[in-house]
Amino acid sequence: MIIDCHGHYTTAPGELQKFRDAQIAGLKDPALTPSSTRLNISDEQIRESLENAQLKLQRERGTDLTIFSPRASAMAHHIGAEPTSLSWSRVCNDLIRRVCALYPDNFAGVCQLPQSPGVPPANSAAELERCVRELGFIGCNLNPDPSGGHWTSPPLTDRYWYPLYEKMVELDVPAMVHVSSSCNANFHATGAHYINADTTAFMQFLTADLFKDFPALRFIIPHGGGAVPFHWGRYRGLAQDLKRPPLEELMKNNVFFDTCVYHQPGIELLLKVVPIDNILFGSEMVGAVRGIDPRTGHALLRRHQALHRCVTPEPRGPGEVVRRQRPQGIPKATCRPRLTRGRMRCPP
Ligand SMILES: [Zn+2]
Repeated sequence: MIIDCHGHYTTAPGELQKFRDAQIAGLKDPALTPSSTRLNISDEQIRESLENAQLKLQRERGTDLTIFSPRASAMAHHIGAEPTSLSWSRVCNDLIRRVCALYPDNFAGVCQLPQSPGVPPANSAAELERCVRELGFIGCNLNPDPSGGHWTSPPLTDRYWYPLYEKMVELDVPAMVHVSSSCNANFHATGAHYINADTTAFMQFLTADLFKDFPALRFIIPHGGGAVPFHWGRYRGLAQDLKRPPLEELMKNNVFFDTCVYHQPGIELLLKVVPIDNILFGSEMVGAVRGIDPRTGHALLRRHQALHRCVTPEPRGPGEVVRRQRPQGIPKATCRPRLTRGRMRCPP
């Protein structure tokens, strides 16, 4: 089974954005605030939004299950205050739950957290718990920069984040480190802010003892780990100079990169330098880059499929990176994949 660890509901019915627009308008004029968080979206609309997008691409490209979360660039934690973020997160997460209920074999849910600049991450623990315990989600997207490009929060290794990590460990769920839109004109959201954040998170993990405090804490750094694989020699050297453990040891049970880099040479480099157990197949489908490559005539997105050319489908070999094992006797729909040392597994 091929699991795609990184997918967003970028094709959600327009009613979701209408709710958000009204919510944002309500920040200036409270009379415009939506009176209800119930979206007028039918199951049929949800099916339509997925059939010719994520589901079609799953079928065409031979993937089975997508770990699915709300649209990352729309999280926009910098808009409004904490109540705005909480309401928006719950609406988005509830919609993901409906997707997973309609297509339990195709999607497993990951939640958006109700983060807000200056608000302690501990305040996001309750929504994470609701999503895992009540909605059956298997992880969260954690924004290291709720300010949207101004980096006003302490580093991810700071004790500021610990209460949320305690909840993640208690619930046994990983987080994808995922920023949202940028309101700093220096940083294009998907072209600079995302990749900067991936690289920044890795360097933060490298310089602190977070995983000594939380041996079971797991993070996925998306977009191929940002600039890290290309500069692997730099980070190895920095770790050595700073008297830190080797990178392989640092990442071992705690830090994973996905394969979302949109070109074959990037995937080959990733697989060459980063320990294979720390790489997860991820496509960001349907994500930041959607065009057709004029050199090949194929969607750039399709480059992710090139991963299959790079891995050996041997049991317990690199091909295992993208497999999910379902124990006998557990119905497919109730099997929640779990990330263990780079492999998605169902809980026993
Ligand atoms: Zn993403």
